[in-house]
Amino acid sequence: MNFEDLGLNPEILKAIAECGYTTPTPIQEKAIPPILMTRDVLGLAQTGTGKTASFILPMIEILYGGRAKARMPRSLILEPTRELASQVADNFDQYGKYHKLNKALLVGGESVSDQTKILDRGADVLIATPGRLLDLFDRGAVLLNDIKILVIDEADRMLDMGFIPDIEKIISRVPPMRQTLLFSATMPKEIKGLADKLLSNPKEITMAPAASPSETVRQSLIWTAGNRKREVLDTLIRQEKVKNAFIFCNRKRDIDGLFRWLKQKGYNVAALHGDMVQSKRYETLESFKADDIRLLICSDVAARGIDVAGVSHVFNYDVPMHADDYVHRIGRTGRAGLQGRSWTIAARGVDDEKFIKAIERLIHKEIPVETLETNYREQSVPQKEPVKKAFPVEKSGRKNPEKSERNPEKRAMPAPEKKRDKVNDDKVVGFGDDVPGFFSHR
Ligand code: AMP
Repeated sequence: MNFEDLGLNPEILKAIAECGYTTPTPIQEKAIPPILMTRDVLGLAQTGTGKTASFILPMIEILYGGRAKARMPRSLILEPTRELASQVADNFDQYGKYHKLNKALLVGGESVSDQTKILDRGADVLIATPGRLLDLFDRGAVLLNDIKILVIDEADRMLDMGFIPDIEKIISRVPPMRQTLLFSATMPKEIKGLADKLLSNPKEITMAPAASPSETVRQSLIWTAGNRKREVLDTLIRQEKVKNAFIFCNRKRDIDGLFRWLKQKGYNVAALHGDMVQSKRYETLESFKADDIRLLICSDVAARGIDVAGVSHVFNYDVPMHADDYVHRIGRTGRAGLQGRSWTIAARGVDDEKFIKAIERLIHKEIPVETLETNYREQSVPQKEPVKKAFPVEKSGRKNPEKSERNPEKRAMPAPEKKRDKVNDDKVVGFGDDVPGFFSHR
């Protein structure tokens, strides 16, 4: 199927051709025709599938020709984070470049008065995060009575971030006679409930089984001691051909600490988290996209859905506590048909084993366990004596998963029940007793 077959006008076709798109992605093929017929849509789709264009292109087609009144936008796209909202706004600018449609972007961290001025001029499309929208609504800067199309994007992430009450408030202010499009990567029961309440006879579109990671990402798992994660990460970055990478941490304070550590080691690195002012977040992301920054340490919230082409690696410096975050994280690489690589660094003796099990249940497969040892022997400091194995070397996969392989304690530590002494705790998995010199600086 071609874009021409989808019923889009020539200016839209020209704009998407200039983006370099030649054929519609599967979700675009499935979603654009029913949206153009003003049907409600329930889309189960991950980012990276072309989902944004699947709703923006028909929205431009539907809204084109009409005119918004001051403070009364004609359509509303809700996004969970500022970054996603800005990205959707950028896409809208690209796809709508030959149409005179106005957009307003309402996100936290930006000047309220500037946003109010844009709303005063009349917005055909309002792209907003829930908190800032309600804030401006309460100030009387925006009215939602003229909304004809409502898009709730990344609904499961809205749920994770506690936005559902805000969404319900917003919906109560939007006219009941409207077209509603709801997109979610997964379908937890709360989102199913929301969809049942909001959508009328929706066209259901499922792009991939819930939470299945892309086939183009080669995944690996590495077990180490909690206090060795930095060194393992450092070694991996040096051993792998890392063009650029997202490094995920679970906590903001770990992002800051890791950022300082990697910077001091001379890496071209930046941090991205929710507490940074918007302008700085935007600037950081743009530098990463422009390849001016090689390593970006970030939180799930800041990086969710961020679309950067050609990211070679994702490192989970922390194992995500929610299994679906794993799928979202590693989906930052291996995009648009390119090969991607993900490494998850798990710590022994904390909850990581439980989290890994939950991830493997969700993705219906085991993440191949690897060690640093093989690559280290080949590429690093020459060894006088052979490296002692802390546990059997596996390149990937497992020969006998029934044995102790799923239990990193059993596998890497000969006597896990015994109280571990300092020496044992400081061992690096895969190095045995021959810990290289560059690990001893701690
Ligand atoms: P999304 O799932 O909306 O985050 O889109 C993922 C990436 O796919 C973005 O970089 C889009 O620019 C790109 N994209 C969207 N539609 C197409 C298409 N039909 N052909 C090629 N790339 C596309």
